[in-house]
Amino acid sequence: MAILTIRHCLDPVLRRKCNAIENINQGLVDLSEDMIETMFDSQGVGLAANQVGISERLIAVDLGFKSPEEKPEQHEPLIIVNPEITSMEEEQIGQEGCLSIPEIFADIKRAKRVEVKGVDLDGKDVRLEVEDYMARAFQHEMDHLNGKLFWDMLSKVKRDILKRKFKKWLKGNA
Ligand SMILES: [Zn+2]
Repeated sequence: MAILTIRHCLDPVLRRKCNAIENINQGLVDLSEDMIETMFDSQGVGLAANQVGISERLIAVDLGFKSPEEKPEQHEPLIIVNPEITSMEEEQIGQEGCLSIPEIFADIKRAKRVEVKGVDLDGKDVRLEVEDYMARAFQHEMDHLNGKLFWDMLSKVKRDILKRKFKKWLKGNA
């Protein structure tokens, strides 16, 4: 297993729509393990494959996270291949961040409850219903697979402020 480099938001790979996965092979299983390790290492709640430079529809999430403040007592990593959000209910507004946009947070409106479907690494159907923080995490990761970042949901004025902040951070951490 290896910790992969997380691409930051100005990398064009994060703007491309990811491709559907046609076969689950050993390469994909290895990538999944590395993504889980990378997610744990950076204390993230989720990670999409394009965040590590792979333009395929694969996400890792840690169901152990119950809220943004609490670290999980126990990690519960889950990999979903070709995930889809099949229903959304109600609304929530809450703070969101992204491993590809370090140090930047903003309040984002999301659905409160979602149903997610996809397959696991054995090719078996996965279906789960999640709410609150986990629902937010799944919507965020799905956006990544579609080439979207959380700040796309904000006005251009707000987004430009955050982008400037991020570029400043990047300069200091290059
Ligand atoms: Zn993200």
